[in-house]
Amino acid sequence: MLSFGILGGTFDPVHFGHLRLAEDAYEALNLTKVILLPVGHPAHRKNPVVDAESRLKMVQLATGSNPYFIVDDSEIYQPQKNNTDIFHHNNKVFLPTREIVKHTNYTIDSIKLLGHRIKEKYSKHFCSLVWIIGADAFLNLDTWHDWKELFNYCHFAVAMRPNYDLALTKMSTELGQQWCHRLTHLQDFKTGKIKETSGKIIPFTMTQLDISATNIRERLKNNLSIRYLTPESVYIYINNNGLYK
Ligand code: ATP
Repeated sequence: MLSFGILGGTFDPVHFGHLRLAEDAYEALNLTKVILLPVGHPAHRKNPVVDAESRLKMVQLATGSNPYFIVDDSEIYQPQKNNTDIFHHNNKVFLPTREIVKHTNYTIDSIKLLGHRIKEKYSKHFCSLVWIIGADAFLNLDTWHDWKELFNYCHFAVAMRPNYDLALTKMSTELGQQWCHRLTHLQDFKTGKIKETSGKIIPFTMTQLDISATNIRERLKNNLSIRYLTPESVYIYINNNGLYK
C-alpha cells in the first residue's frame, strides 16, 4: 500500500522543527511522499503574521532539494470561477487562472480534496493518507471543525515534541476515547499489518528540536539572529523582504 504523509501548518515561518518532523515521519512510517500543506486562513488559531504567498514561498525554498517532499498550495490558491478548464492553443497548454483563497480553510475539506487527487493519480494502488502532527497540535485536535470525521479519511501520526506530554490526562474525555480506541503501534503500521486506509493513531518519536515559529518571530522583532533555526534560503528570504520586524 502507498502511504502519503501530509504536514499542514501555518509555517510562519517554516523552520527545522517542521522539516525534521516531515523527514522523521517519512522514515519512521515508511511513507511514499510527504505533502507540505501551508494553510491560508486557519480555522482553529489566529491568523498568521505574514501573508500566505510569502509563507508558501518559504516552504518551497526550504524543501526544494528534497525529492520526496511535495509542497501543495491548494489552501492558498484556487481555480478562478468560470475558468476551470485546461485548454491548448498553438501547441501551448493554458492552465486555469487561479486566485487567492479568501475563506477559512478546513482540514476536512483539504484532506478530501487531496485524497481524491491521489486516488486519481495512483488509481492502480491502494493508498492511505497520514496526517502528521506534533503532540501540541494533537492535544487540540478536538477543537478542529468536524474533527472526528477526519478519522474516516486519514490516519494520524503523532510526534513527541519537547515540553508536550501526550498523557491521557492532558486530553479531553472525547479525544482520550479516540486515542484509546485507535492507538496503533508504529511497527504494525510500518510492516503493513494495518490494512485500513484511515482511522489509526500512530505515535512516533522524532529528533527533538525545541524550535517554534513563535520564538523565531520574537527573535526577529528583537533583532536577534535566527540563523541555523531555519534553512539558509529561508533566512535570506526573511532578511531580503524585511519580514517579522
Ligand atoms: P507557532 O509557534 O506559530 O504556533 P509552530 O512552530 O508550532 O508555530 P505550526 O506551523 O503551527 O508551527 O505547526 C505545524 C505543525 O508542526 C504542528 O503539527 C506542530 O505541532 C509541528 N511542529 C512545529 N514545530 C515543531 C517542532 N519543533 N518539533 C516538532 N513538531 C513541530
